[in-house]
Amino acid sequence: MIKFVLMDLDDTILNFSLAEQKALARTFEELGISVTEENVALYSRINSSVWSKIEKGELTRSEALIQRFALLFAHVGVQADPHKTNDFYFATLSQNADFIAGAKELLEELKGKYSLIAVSNGNSVVQWPRIKKAHLEDYFDKIFISQEVGFDKPSEKFFIKCFEQIENFNRDEAIILGDRLSSDVLGGQNARIKTCWFNEKGEVATNIKPDFEIHSLSEFMGVLEQL
Ligand SMILES: [Mg+2]
Repeated sequence: MIKFVLMDLDDTILNFSLAEQKALARTFEELGISVTEENVALYSRINSSVWSKIEKGELTRSEALIQRFALLFAHVGVQADPHKTNDFYFATLSQNADFIAGAKELLEELKGKYSLIAVSNGNSVVQWPRIKKAHLEDYFDKIFISQEVGFDKPSEKFFIKCFEQIENFNRDEAIILGDRLSSDVLGGQNARIKTCWFNEKGEVATNIKPDFEIHSLSEFMGVLEQL
């Protein structure tokens, strides 16, 4: 029987890809970088590579945030301050809080039946305005942002810190739902709780094997009912 549902936020509950697209376009405009598919894809590749380094513990969060813009500027030949750019980008990003299809409906259905816990790898200045804008505090009993926790998913330390703050927490009664195998599913495995991969884009599975896999959020209630 599941009592605790841990949920990732970005691209599980809130549409981070869309928020990122909008904020990036605004930032590019500000810097005079053309908003072309090629430049957006370049940023996306750089950003994914620095985030993987955070997940592997090879870069700190603050180093990574600056490095992604510094690398982008080097590639496109723009002279700009990566710190200021990151601040501008974050301010724009924090104003975007669109839901993933079916997320609000799922939260409505889960509310009152389960203890809902948000576990997000993110920055406080970006996440809190988005959380407030989407009224997520109406649904979640606890909201953990990795920057405040001091560790990132998939580290077990991140989860231990969260579990300490959840009343009557029991690993056997917990599941995590998230869109990333390398942070949410692997994190859940490190924390020894059940895992459900939200594979909306139909990605090919890797050696990280979730207990459950769904392609639409509407399938998640069915998973909980099996447990
Ligand atoms: Mg995510």
